[in-house]
Amino acid sequence: MADSVGIAVMGASGRMGRMLIDTVTASHKAHLVGVTERPGHDWIGRDLGEALGGAKTGVMVHSDPLDVIVKAQAVIDFTTPEATLAHAALTAQARCVHVIGTTGLTDADIAALDASARHAVIVRAGNMSLGVNLLTRLAQEVAHALDADFDVEIVESHHRHKVDAPSGTALMLGEAVARGRGVSLSEVSDRGRDGMTGARKRGDIGFAAIRGGDIVGEHDVIFAGMGERIVLSHVATDRGIFARGALKAALWGQGQAPGHYSMMSVLGLA
Ligand code: NAP
Repeated sequence: MADSVGIAVMGASGRMGRMLIDTVTASHKAHLVGVTERPGHDWIGRDLGEALGGAKTGVMVHSDPLDVIVKAQAVIDFTTPEATLAHAALTAQARCVHVIGTTGLTDADIAALDASARHAVIVRAGNMSLGVNLLTRLAQEVAHALDADFDVEIVESHHRHKVDAPSGTALMLGEAVARGRGVSLSEVSDRGRDGMTGARKRGDIGFAAIRGGDIVGEHDVIFAGMGERIVLSHVATDRGIFARGALKAALWGQGQAPGHYSMMSVLGLA
């Protein structure tokens, strides 16, 4: 265990929480030191293995995040914005690497994370997969090469349980296109069209969201010109890609200077 990194997973019973537990447990470079769930959850106080319907693991499910943060070298957090902000205050005090996959964060939430990142390493990405981070880079370059004669539309599809829209990944892609064009996304973003919207404004970046079934995550960045169209596409079929990316970020963060990093840094694409 000498070189193995101790990881705490927040939100253990969630779709990503379970995937993260499998990924960390299977890794030779990391081990699980504890997990949390929302206060009042029926897993609290139980052995994680038993809560998952298997054999005892010796890892307990806690409701107080501090109980696991003090034992961890990295915290992996795919929960809710409210929980993630509370965790960030504690990981900053503990100088513990905080990997954040939670989406739906507001600008004010991100500013609060910036403050925590003065004391500890935060790696945050709306999508932790290698493929999407590469797609982000490609979207930025295509946007830079084309002018606003090409209308950009970002279309994303996710499972029926997803609570926020556009997805964190769609916003990441929108930011990349805006960066490529040298504009601010907040000034050109066109979200939630309905009714008599008027004609499309030149230079706008449009977003559309599809929700249904068990779709893991699909993103298209469409550059629609007159007589031709370029579509950059990513399809996720397995949540394991996000968990593996998050674990890679937790390992990468060890020994880095405090700061608010993205997966671009972890993947060497920054
Ligand atoms: P989920 O199944 O709802 O899981 C969230 C888990 O967090 C639930 O088990 C929830 O418990 C738990 N939780 C809520 N408050 C908590 C607290 N205070 N302390 C500890 N645990 C708490 O959702 P998911 O599909 O796993 O997604 C979670 C987040 O990750 C979402 O924001 C999603 O968009 C994002 N995501 C990001 C990526 C990426 O690559 N960045 C990929 C996939 C998903 P209860 O259900 O009991 O409330």
